Order: sequence, then structure tokens, then C-alpha cells
Amino acid sequence: MTTPRLRFAPSPTGYLHLGGARTALFNWLYARRQGGTFILRIEDTDAGRSSDEMVTGILDGLRWLGIDWDEGPEVGGPHAPYFQSQRLDRHRAAARDLVGRGLAYEDEGAIRFRVPAGRTTFVDSVHGPIEFDNEHIESFVILRSDTQPTYHLSVVVDDIDMRVTHVVRGDDHISNTPKQVLLYQALGAAPPAFAHVPLIMGPDKKRLSKRHGATSVMEYEKQGYLPEAMFNFLALLGWGTGSDDEIFTRDELIARFTLLGISGGNAVFNTEKLDWFNHQHLLRLDNDALIGRLRGRLAAAGYWRDALDGVDRDWFIRVLALLKPRAKTLNAFVEQVSPFFTEPLAYDGDGVKKHLSTAGMQAHVRSLRDAFAALDVWNEATLEQALRALADARGVKAGALIQAARLAATGRMVSPGLFEMLVLLGRDGVLGRLDRMMETVWSAATS
Ligand code: GLU
Repeated sequence: MTTPRLRFAPSPTGYLHLGGARTALFNWLYARRQGGTFILRIEDTDAGRSSDEMVTGILDGLRWLGIDWDEGPEVGGPHAPYFQSQRLDRHRAAARDLVGRGLAYEDEGAIRFRVPAGRTTFVDSVHGPIEFDNEHIESFVILRSDTQPTYHLSVVVDDIDMRVTHVVRGDDHISNTPKQVLLYQALGAAPPAFAHVPLIMGPDKKRLSKRHGATSVMEYEKQGYLPEAMFNFLALLGWGTGSDDEIFTRDELIARFTLLGISGGNAVFNTEKLDWFNHQHLLRLDNDALIGRLRGRLAAAGYWRDALDGVDRDWFIRVLALLKPRAKTLNAFVEQVSPFFTEPLAYDGDGVKKHLSTAGMQAHVRSLRDAFAALDVWNEATLEQALRALADARGVKAGALIQAARLAATGRMVSPGLFEMLVLLGRDGVLGRLDRMMETVWSAATS
């Protein structure tokens, strides 16, 4: 068997979206599984709709996902992709060759392919054998009158020249395939194997679009998703390993990938599922890796200091451990870590109304502050004991004091376990936060 050669051939008329990324990923997984070659070919022949910005966006998206490509043109270095626009002469020559052999003809300046009588069939590894009656295929244009080749001609000539053995792409291309198979035959080449992958749908079973949230892959990077989680999620969107396991590394996915595992039914995207994958992958990162991933985002938020990787490292690891059960994205970590770096700038309005405006609460909070200040030992047990003893003594529910202390510590109504958090904030941090809340919330009443 010849070594498989696959390609991803995006048109740079938009950013790399989820559907394109998944197509790239399936091609890449198959090439890597089979020890084959994966080519990136930018199909930029529609100069009016293509842009450098989109090309960059596509390359960034692929690199972020860890999808690397193997070959490129001589010019531009080994990491440059192929650009279809640099191959127009090849496409034109193929069109003239077909005219020369009577397989295409000129028609008002354009060159059209002469569709022969008969039937065109191909086997699709997802959908099985597919057959078209050539009667329903018009004699289609391959070279426009301005000598611009059409998509069908360019894609086939390039796939032949690049010796592509497997074409894995969205199933919106099924109807294009018979024309392309005819071109392969006319150009004397065997068609590749085809696998047309069902489209990705939103939860409402409509084709995935902006309405369903972000579609550009890099938008997910911005939102704090891990590339390995996105990779895992996309791989299982319409493809299955046959087992119930869902969390896989890139290498595990390579080891399991087959084209036959691609399902014929439309895959449904949903954000909760992506969040779940992301959370699972976050939980699998060791401390070094997690800190490494967070560092840039923490710096951007103004929270990073080198001590977090030095003298404060143990403290920081305990903070992260406290947040892990809730933080599903890197951005959620940054958001939830903020109470550990800054005093609350504001207090949740509903929380103030619900938990601080009850009669006597100001005096309770003041006593709580004094009780905490008097502690000899600052740990979860002593803090909890002090709070509960005070609640008993003042005839107030412990829960009410806990909520008030939570607001003081975080400004929020929801947080990790209060006493664990107070330990990590430290005595000065907690007393300062209680003082600040008393000043902010009750200053009007007391002054
Ligand atoms: N440039 C085409 C697209 O983005 C590629 C189609 C193909 O894979 O053959 O849809």
C-alpha cells in the first residue's frame, strides 16, 4: 500500500471555524496514524474574497490546536503551506490539455468540461457507494474567460500533483465529487478515497453558525479553553472510538483513529460538553503546567508576580486546588482567583440586601472581626469554631455570618469553602477585608 497523503485545503475567506478545524483534525489524525503525510494547501484563488489576515488566522488556529503540516513549496521554507494561487499555470495547462484531447471545449471564451454519457460512482467511507447519472451533470466550466481556473479544476489538479490519496472533507462537497471524479479520469489519474464528514449542527439541529456562539477556533483560545481539550472535543464530534471513554490525549487519539469510525449522522455541538472536556483536561494538568498556562492571563489581569513561582508557590498551589472544582476555563481561574489578589472593589448588590441588611448585622460583623483578631492559631478549625461560638453567643445563625464573611472576602455570594479561603487569605487579609466591608457598606449609617 502506498503511504497515505492527506491535505487540508481551506479557502481563506474566513477564520478557522470549528467545522474546518475538525476537518483538518480528521485528516491530520489519519495521516499521523498511518505514518503518512499531511499537507496544508491554502485555496486562495478567489482573490477578491481571500485575505492575508484570514490566512494568518487559519495558521494560528491550526498551530494552537497542534496540527502541524509536513510539506511546503521550495519557496517560503519548510513551514510555509502551499498556496493554490501560485499554481494557476498548472491549472491552465491542464485545461488546455483537456481541450487538446477533446475532453473539454471552448465556449464563449470559457473552457467547459465535456461530461461523457454514463454514470459516475465513487465509494465514500462514511456514506458508502454513491452514484450519479451523468445526465444530471452539466458541462461545467473549468477555466473562466479571464483564464481563472474554477474550484473543481484547481482542486483536482493540485490533488493529483500532490499525490493526495485520501480526501476527507465536509459532506457539503458530496455533490461536487462526481465532477471531480470525472476530471480525475479525464486527466488519467485514479481518484483518491473519499470520506465526507457530516456537518456540525448547533443544539437546535441547525447548521452551526455565529448564532450558537463563537465559531472561530481562536475565539475559544481567548475564552480560556485548552487546545488539547478543544482537540479532544472536536475529534469526538462525529467520530467515535467505539468505547465509552471520552478523555484522550492527542497521542491516544492518533492511536485509535480510523476513517470508519466517522459517523454518518450530523454531529451536535454544545458548549456544556466542551466545558466538561475542558474541565477534565484542566484537572489533568500538573501544578507546573497549570501555572504555566495561567501565567500570561494572570499577568494581563495584573495579578502575576514572580513569587507565585517562588516563595509563594505553595500558597498559590493551594489557592488553585481550591478553585479547581469550579473553574472550567483558564479565564474562570483568573476570575475566581481575583479575591486572593485584591480586596473586593464592590459587593454583590443582592448579597448586601440579603445578608447584610438584617438587623444587628453590622454589630455581628464587628464582633466576628474581633473574634478572628483574637485567634492564636489561624486555621480552618479555629476559624470555624470562633465563628460558630460567636453565632451561638449572639443568637444569630452561623450561616448568616458565613455569608457575611464570604461577601467581605470576595464581594460575591458564591465562592469556594469559606474557611479554607480565609486560611489562604491570611489574618491581615481577612481583617482588612472585614474592615473594608464595614466601611463601605455601613459608612453612611454610622457617620
Ligand atoms: N477550498 C475548499 C473548501 O474550503 C476545499 C474543498 C476540498 O476539500 O476539496 O471548501
